[in-house]
Amino acid sequence: MLIGVLALQGAFREHQQTLAALGVSSRRVKKPEDLDGLDGLIIPGGESTTMSKLLGDYHLLTPLKDKTAAGLPVFGTCAGLIIMAKDIYGSNQTRLGLLDILVARNAFGRQVESFEDKLIIPAVGEKPFPAVFIRAPYVMEAKPEVKILATYKEKIVFVQQGKCLAAAFHPELTSDYRLHQYFINQL
Ligand code: GLN
Repeated sequence: MLIGVLALQGAFREHQQTLAALGVSSRRVKKPEDLDGLDGLIIPGGESTTMSKLLGDYHLLTPLKDKTAAGLPVFGTCAGLIIMAKDIYGSNQTRLGLLDILVARNAFGRQVESFEDKLIIPAVGEKPFPAVFIRAPYVMEAKPEVKILATYKEKIVFVQQGKCLAAAFHPELTSDYRLHQYFINQL
């Protein structure tokens, strides 16, 4: 199994470390050819407007849209979730439109821009998941085909549509590997 990690910007190294800890090979994706032969792709956290712009600059947008339309499963975290959304509240930034959701960026408010809390995610077991939120988005609306895997204070923060997964927080910044394992189990 080979998982690509989009490596234009953001926390791609941490995702690779998590995959390595699970014994899964990964490859940094910076060029269209890097998408060939992948079983799945991770889009990390970072800054979604910058990442969107770099997708265009690195000629990755069209190949990425083609691969995902052909069924490449994607797991996005934080900025990755924003890039995967069909709709981004108040923004026309480039996105992949893989998930039928409306996302609000930087949505938890200034005073709590970054925080950690425990989340209940039944899909990965009873033990609470340590979720790190950094200028995190949340999902304002999700179409019925989108499964809601976790909420935090009534906000949707972890979703699945088909084999695509997206979290508003950063599982790659903890040593709890259950979300990555859950993604790999779908492949
Ligand atoms: N606020 C960032 C954005 O809008 C996302 C933050 C993150 O990925 N930690 O892109």
